Amino acid sequence: MVGTAFAGTLTVGTDTNFPPFEFKDPETGKHTGFDVELWDAIAKEIGIEYKLQPMAFKGIVPGLQSAQLDAGIAGMSITEKRREVIDFSDGYYDSGLLLLVSADDDSIDGLKSLDGKVIATKQGTTSVEFLKENATPKEVKLFPNDNAMFMELLTGGVDAVMFDKPVIESFVSKRGKGKVKIVGDLYAGQPYGIGFPKGSELVGKVNAALKTLKANGVYNELYKKWFGVEP
Ligand code: GLN
Repeated sequence: MVGTAFAGTLTVGTDTNFPPFEFKDPETGKHTGFDVELWDAIAKEIGIEYKLQPMAFKGIVPGLQSAQLDAGIAGMSITEKRREVIDFSDGYYDSGLLLLVSADDDSIDGLKSLDGKVIATKQGTTSVEFLKENATPKEVKLFPNDNAMFMELLTGGVDAVMFDKPVIESFVSKRGKGKVKIVGDLYAGQPYGIGFPKGSELVGKVNAALKTLKANGVYNELYKKWFGVEP
């Protein structure tokens, strides 16, 4: 049983870069984003101290499994496979996967047209499994972070990127503007949940805090701040 959770300072894993959920603000040098602020509101609601630990996404589930992390908030999709080794909070954001190609590429219009193509995505993420099960590209190139993955598309090293909808949309509206376009459908609808070591007593507390923050408007405020729309 993971019982130390409330006694001291919790270690909370987050992705290094998964905007607008978590990223380093270039002006302040601090980690910020929807996940970061939502977790802070949850921690205040429960009355716990924590230290945020940005890390490569693929280390978060193992970190929770070995209880080196007390919680993980990283735009992490709730999947049956992960549920076998960690616990999840209730879903707090509805997501899915999108395909991104160069603006001038008319050869890809969805999953079927990925045959013989080279696709980039991020290590340890749900896109890796999804591509294995639903497409037959020539190659799937795996990158440790979003920046490297998007850069590979911009420099022509891959034909497409498959990744989480909000991160793709954020890239399209900012750094990728005019250079890339989304094609195909929204694939594999998947809610994000906060992860915990199995049996953690935090799960119930965090779910209760999430309910409170949804009822008192704090969740809505954060959602609007980071996504520009009402939930
Ligand atoms: N939602 C994806 C997953 O859970 C990607 C998360 C991430 O890269 N931070 O696998």
